[in-house]
Amino acid sequence: MDILQERILVTGGSGMVGSALAEMIPNAMFIDSSMYDLTDQVDTNYLFLDTNPDYVIHLAAKVGGVKANADNLGSFYYDNIAINTNVLEGARKFKVKKVLSLLSTCIYPNVVTYPLTEEQIHDGPPHPSNYAYAYAKRMLDIQSQAYRKQYGSNFITVVPNNLFGEHDNFDLNDSHIIPAVIRKIYEAKTNNKQLILWGDGKPLREFTYSKDLARIVLLLLSDYEEPSPINVGNPKEYSIKEVVKIISDVMDYNGDVVWDTSKPKGQHRKPSSNAKLLNLGWQNKDYTPLRTAIENTYKWFIDNYPNVRGC
Ligand code: NAP
Repeated sequence: MDILQERILVTGGSGMVGSALAEMIPNAMFIDSSMYDLTDQVDTNYLFLDTNPDYVIHLAAKVGGVKANADNLGSFYYDNIAINTNVLEGARKFKVKKVLSLLSTCIYPNVVTYPLTEEQIHDGPPHPSNYAYAYAKRMLDIQSQAYRKQYGSNFITVVPNNLFGEHDNFDLNDSHIIPAVIRKIYEAKTNNKQLILWGDGKPLREFTYSKDLARIVLLLLSDYEEPSPINVGNPKEYSIKEVVKIISDVMDYNGDVVWDTSKPKGQHRKPSSNAKLLNLGWQNKDYTPLRTAIENTYKWFIDNYPNVRGC
């Protein structure tokens, strides 16, 4: 059976990952908060009544960087718990065939054995800066597994690492490293300003292009049925300095970079294992090269500036 011929509902359809999926499955139903407020159970019931989906790709979440998480622990907890509870319960009641929900590697325990492997997700407290978001996301996995046991629901959870791409959030107070550096370099060039970045550039990080995640989501919607989560992020590590160098090259920026070492730089490495994904036939060469993905993201930024999120 070709899943793509069935009725697919995508929550969080206006976001970065939702926009990447919209290019691949334009006939699916994409919804955002202006159409249905998923923190509201009645609204969520109407969503299922109105759309009657066979499959749900559940992306909707209250998402933010370190500052937004730390400043809004209560609302990050409430909104995410409410959204996830309502969506999975609606999917159960309306007999959806399969739900694929997104978690994040940032919900892994603060103290963990590297590389991150799926069975460690619940093994200790998450990082204190984002614990409310992290516990709410962990409950999405718990609810999926509990519904599978009691009701036989085919609910799976998927764990990406740092995502970036077109339609990302470019807010300087609340964005991730790649969109933040693109915007800072753009403004440094345009306004002849200094480029100041936090930390010393030495920590290593992994990055996954949103369009690669969209391809992986469709693969797993068809081929992954296990109760346990599956890591899907590109495991190639880059130092922050290397990433800044690639972005500078792509943007033709030759100015200085000032590293503000008084600001936190974070953990040195947080490598993850995508071994389960590789067992399903995905190969590491299937991920888009970082430079190509950054070129695409920058082109989108330039084509849409200043009408991009956070500007
Ligand atoms: P995003 O761009 O911030 O989009 C979030 C989406 O959720 C938007 O469509 C938003 O709708 C919707 N939403 C938020 N609150 C809602 C509500 N109350 N009712 C209905 N819809 C609501 O997020 P993203 O970066 O694409 O992330 C997608 C998923 O990947 C999330 O589950 C996130 O936790 C996970 N993830 C993200 C990253 C990352 O680096 N971005 C990393 C790992 C995992 P509006 O546009 O109307 O607000």
